[in-house]
Amino acid sequence: MKFRIEHCALSLGLCVASCAALTRAQDTTMNTLAERYVRLVLAVGQYDADYVDAYYGPPEWRTEAEARKLPLTDIASRAATLARDVAAAPAGDEMAQLRRQYLTRQLEALRARVSMLTGTKLRFDEESKALYDASAPTHTEADFADVLAQLESKLPGSGSLIDRYDAFRGRFVIPRERLEAVFKAAIDGCRSRTLQHITLPPGESFSVEYVTGKSWSGYNWYQGNYRSLIQVNTDLPIYVDRAIDLACHEGYPGHHVYNVLLEKNLLRDRGWIEFSVYPLFSPQSLIAEGTANYGIEVAFPRAERLEFERRVLFPAAGLNPENAAQYYEVLALVDKLSYAGNEAARRYLDGKIDAKAAADWLEKYGLYSRPRAEQRVRFIDQYRSYVINYNLGKNMVAAYIESRGPDRWAEFARLISSPRLPSSLTDASR
Ligand SMILES: [Zn+2]
Repeated sequence: MKFRIEHCALSLGLCVASCAALTRAQDTTMNTLAERYVRLVLAVGQYDADYVDAYYGPPEWRTEAEARKLPLTDIASRAATLARDVAAAPAGDEMAQLRRQYLTRQLEALRARVSMLTGTKLRFDEESKALYDASAPTHTEADFADVLAQLESKLPGSGSLIDRYDAFRGRFVIPRERLEAVFKAAIDGCRSRTLQHITLPPGESFSVEYVTGKSWSGYNWYQGNYRSLIQVNTDLPIYVDRAIDLACHEGYPGHHVYNVLLEKNLLRDRGWIEFSVYPLFSPQSLIAEGTANYGIEVAFPRAERLEFERRVLFPAAGLNPENAAQYYEVLALVDKLSYAGNEAARRYLDGKIDAKAAADWLEKYGLYSRPRAEQRVRFIDQYRSYVINYNLGKNMVAAYIESRGPDRWAEFARLISSPRLPSSLTDASR
């Protein structure tokens, strides 16, 4: 018996040693492949100014990419070779397998983007599938009729529904001189709620800048080293609901926290260099936007949000807190029209309608004011099928997290700390 125990202990010792050696070999192989991937992402960035959303790996890799300016055809053939090499890499434990699947799919998206840059035209749904690993459901005008009818009765009066909604919403604009104070209060609220559930590394922080002349309303530029630059576009009036939306989405527990945790858990702790670069047109964006939008509800469930708006943000914006409940009732209905935005983009990018008709669609079925509809068409011109990442991404993330149990914060933190693909969120075998 004694012998058997010693024998087992010896076997276990050997196994631990050889498993560790195997893991190290897998890591070395994958790290080499990951470096090739990062260099290819940087190479694509030479042709597409929006492509590299964040990079905080070795600076000389970027300098080399700029100096070399690999032709797109070379990038395509190197990416094809890399895809074969990744497929041939040894499998490992669950995290190693997730890593390989993730790299494989990110690389497929890179190849699709390169193909688009060399002239390939994809239909809207083909493009979103190729780039973001998902495609949005289609809708007709009739799908929005019920919600529009409810809004008609919530916003009585003469004139068109969009004009009445615009006039109603105009009562909830944050005056320009109060913007910073309102955003600061919103950021503090989002951050303190997040920190109760997610541990962030010391030194994380972000700064906020106010900008104009952009197709988006807010943007997080992750700088690495646990820092973000968040830009808020003041081209159009900023309504009071945008304070929490932007603070949570761009900051806590949204993009800033997502990037911080990727840097901490995957890049620094595990040495997975592929997470030093974030290619915008890739499946990573569906997870990023989906978690950033769902994170608003995780940080501020409906009743808590209303209480915070009434007590803190409405007064900070100089607005009457008594109107908060009615405002959020109307906004909840308008939110149900969000897929009208995808539909406008699909029809416009598939060449079925022109830019003016797309703006008309957004105005009529999505209740965008005219300037906002025109801004959104410019966004669609620039980012194309990326639009699905916000609402479809949010719904996919919500369904995934809520199917896994009642602790939304724990599941949320787990999702944004691991390399998970959009299609795996809906995969029953996940
Ligand atoms: Zn975002």
